[in-house]
Amino acid sequence: MGFHSSKRQFLKTGLFGLIGLGTAGRVLARNKAKPHVLVAGAGAFGGWAALYLLRQGARVTLVDPWGPGNPLSSSGGQTRNLTGAYGTPEVYREWAQRSMRLWLEHQERWQLPLYEPIGALWMARENLTLGDTATDRTADYTRWMDEDVEGAEKLTPDEANSRFPQISMDGIRTTLYEKEAGILFARRACYAVIDGFLAEGGDYRQAGVVSTRTKDGEMQGVTLSDGSKIEADRYVFACGPWLGKLFPEVVGKHLVVTRQEIYYLQTPDGDDRFHKSKLPHWVDWGREIWWGVPAHQTWGFAVADHGLGPHFDPASGDRRVSDSGKQAARAQVGARFPGMKGAAYLTGRVCQYTNTPDGDYIIDRHPEAENAWIYGGGSGTGFHAGPARGQDMAGYVLGRGMPDPRFSLSRFQESA
Ligand SMILES: Cc1cc2nc3c(=O)[nH]c(=O)nc-3n(C[C@H](O)[C@H](O)[C@H](O)COP(=O)(O)OP(=O)(O)OC[C@H]3O[C@@H](n4cnc5c(N)ncnc54)[C@H](O)[C@@H]3O)c2cc1C
Repeated sequence: MGFHSSKRQFLKTGLFGLIGLGTAGRVLARNKAKPHVLVAGAGAFGGWAALYLLRQGARVTLVDPWGPGNPLSSSGGQTRNLTGAYGTPEVYREWAQRSMRLWLEHQERWQLPLYEPIGALWMARENLTLGDTATDRTADYTRWMDEDVEGAEKLTPDEANSRFPQISMDGIRTTLYEKEAGILFARRACYAVIDGFLAEGGDYRQAGVVSTRTKDGEMQGVTLSDGSKIEADRYVFACGPWLGKLFPEVVGKHLVVTRQEIYYLQTPDGDDRFHKSKLPHWVDWGREIWWGVPAHQTWGFAVADHGLGPHFDPASGDRRVSDSGKQAARAQVGARFPGMKGAAYLTGRVCQYTNTPDGDYIIDRHPEAENAWIYGGGSGTGFHAGPARGQDMAGYVLGRGMPDPRFSLSRFQESA
């Protein structure tokens, strides 16, 4: 059943079944005077940008071949974290803070749990030295741990242990506790954004962009995987790990997509010390960086290695979790959380980071098409800021302001 034949049903139930839509008139109303923007990709980047483009006066068509929060996408996980550690430099800090307000505002507006401030505990190991970890951005984070940051409390290992006795502080030099940090229910949030987009009059089609046509410095149209063609006034390509395939010359050589595994372990029966009511999101930071999310709903205790995995093809890569990864995760958790020693492996997931060389996102016009934007390069941190960054992105596309030059494509030429 194609999108158009099933539109009536969507209008009744909401495409993703979470929010009932208003009248069909709202969806079908089209003001020809409004600029028409095509957004490709309904993840954390494209979904929020599409919603804010609509709110800022555009007519928006959003397309995605597999749907918002789909299992292949980077935004389709169970949870993502929102913390102030994405706060350096200033633009990220502002996005994180504004996004926290916007997540809470939309949670209220849509009457859906999207964000839960369970806190975050950052633990820096004794062997951690600045700049010796995975990316430059990581060095920024570690510097952040040694600063006095508003909203974060420095705790000695003893103080942290008396607050969270279920965590062993073996080998930890210092910790930072952020009370307001928390977890976002990622996949649910992706559905909610698209239902909100539809309810406010957006047009969604389940198809991917297969080719683009550019002439005289402008993008003139795209062809979708269902054979249809769309000619819009402006274009936003937010295809996450697929961006490099769509634009091999422009971004292909600058984006490295890596395979990242996440594991879910069983918590001991009748013991709530590893549940989100008792434990914050945590990061164990040494020469390797491990992070985890306490158990919630029916999901187990999540744990992952933040180190970059091997290169990965998001469409065809093997999504089976490795035995060596499972074992390493169980050993890591058993050492840091003695009550979880020997915990059974429940399930796992393979996701991907879309890494730029410096860890900064890409927010820039296509070099050969003034009216087309490339928007992505999440580099393992791109989910939490979706609302604030999307709000700004909508403004850039509609001619209000320009992004910080740190997000430009030209920075790659300069550093080449
Ligand atoms: C294990 C893991 C943990 C993470 N933890 C955090 C965290 O705690 N906090 C945080 O902020 N971030 C985190 N991230 C990073 C964050 O999830 C990503 O940066 C973010 O989800 C990327 O969103 P995106 O919209 O760019 O990409 P995606 O979510 O992949 O969305 C891209 C969309 O484009 C669609 N698409 C593909 N090809 C086409 C096409 N040709 N035409 C149209 N559409 C197309 C896809 O179907 C997909 O839906 C984590 C990532 C992983 C993997």
